Amino acid sequence: MQSIRWRLSVYYSVALTLTIVVFGAVLYLERRASAVREQEDQLTQRLENEIGLIRSSIAEWANYFDVVREEPAIGRPGDVSLGLVDGLRAQLDGLPRDLIFITDPANRLVYVSRAASDLGPTALQKVLRTLQRRPPVLGGSLRLQDTGEPYRFVIDTLAPQTPGAIRAVMVAARTEGPLRGPTQLLVSMLIVSPVIILAAAIMGYWLAGRALSPLEVMVAEVEAIQDGRSLHRRLAVPPGDDELGRLGANLNAMLSRVERSFVALRRFTADASHELKTPLMVLRAGVERSLTHPEAPEEVVDTLDETLRQINEMTELVTNLLTLARADEGRFSLVREVGDLVPLVAEAGETAEILGERAGVTVVLGLPDAPVLAVIEAGRIRQLLMNLITNAVKYTTPGGTVEIALTASEVEATIVVRDTGIGIATGDLGHVFERFWRADPSRSRSGDRPGAGLGLAISKWITEAHGGSIAVQSRPGRGSTFTVVLPLPPPPEAAEA
Ligand code: ADP
Repeated sequence: MQSIRWRLSVYYSVALTLTIVVFGAVLYLERRASAVREQEDQLTQRLENEIGLIRSSIAEWANYFDVVREEPAIGRPGDVSLGLVDGLRAQLDGLPRDLIFITDPANRLVYVSRAASDLGPTALQKVLRTLQRRPPVLGGSLRLQDTGEPYRFVIDTLAPQTPGAIRAVMVAARTEGPLRGPTQLLVSMLIVSPVIILAAAIMGYWLAGRALSPLEVMVAEVEAIQDGRSLHRRLAVPPGDDELGRLGANLNAMLSRVERSFVALRRFTADASHELKTPLMVLRAGVERSLTHPEAPEEVVDTLDETLRQINEMTELVTNLLTLARADEGRFSLVREVGDLVPLVAEAGETAEILGERAGVTVVLGLPDAPVLAVIEAGRIRQLLMNLITNAVKYTTPGGTVEIALTASEVEATIVVRDTGIGIATGDLGHVFERFWRADPSRSRSGDRPGAGLGLAISKWITEAHGGSIAVQSRPGRGSTFTVVLPLPPPPEAAEA
């Protein structure tokens, strides 16, 4: 659930971040473009005002003088240089901010303002070409230097076009200063956006948690339905006809169907096992009686022996099935009383020695000196021990060892059954306590290692019914270790205190 909640919050935050980035970028670019337009309009306006001033100055001077003068060029005999009448030039020099270019009717530059004095010949050529354009241009932008923004310019063409007069005036300037508005907007967005995204992510996480909490409850309830005994439980269906409500109702309906099938199956297993017990007992008695017949021929005795073995195995299987079916139904309550585990383990050890002797397996028994008192049903603990011990001997090859050890702490007793046998594959370890599970199903039930795959399922039930736990560790070819831990009651002094 945690992961869905996290995933939803992450997706939501990523979507929000993308939206904010796209929105911010569009807003910034749009604001920037309009700020540039505004700045250019203001500049053009200023240039037009300025050119108006220049024009009226020229007109004033032209009333009295030729405003363009030819003078002998210094150092170049025979050549003339052109210039404006001094008073007008002084007036124009008083406008130092912008580039001012003035040409005469022959399109020769007669005045270049101080601000334009460091422009190279290429730039001046560009200016002249622009002033000469046909049809004449009255404004626009021009790149006069390699770096920076292009210049905005305004041109005014004057009439009459007589010698000594002025043909055209160009005033040019660049936009000044950074675009403060859009930059401030960008900075504000960069500061505010993470805060908004963080707040939205926290909010999203909280909302996802709230929306998913009924699902969380349902998962916990479904998790609590672990086995057949808890199938009667139903989920608390959230109110309303939304998806969660329908999911809960459907799960409940499914649980009802599963419970009905499960109960029917359990009933059938219990009844069938119960019904089979009596005919098996009759069969066994009949075969045993026939076996004692003094005149029975040898081959008949052999057949009867095999039949008796099969009947015994079947009886054990039926008994085990009945045990598990009743345990599932909760009809099997243990009759537990305080008993010493030491003699039980010792007794199982002795049986193990007999089995081990037959199978060529050495049995080592380790017991504590003091009694280990636990609240147990002795018969069931004996069954548990025998299941583990017969398995250990059964799955150990001749020459191997089976070790049985009982130890106790203040709170629990530990029974370990360790063998040096064939072991269990790692992938199979999770299945050994399942009903009817056998590592190699192809092995026949009556083959070299007979069994129905119920022994460990019953052992687990017995351990858990005593409040304990059972675990297995194993490596193929290196043997297996089954560990049973049973809780011990507090010692009498502690109980009294
Ligand atoms: P079975 O009657 O077949 O022995 P169990 O429930 O007792 O049934 O065991 C289930 C399966 O677990 C066995 O078939 C066997 O494959 C495996 N197993 C149990 N004990 C051991 C062991 N000590 N060593 C190796 N495999 C074991």
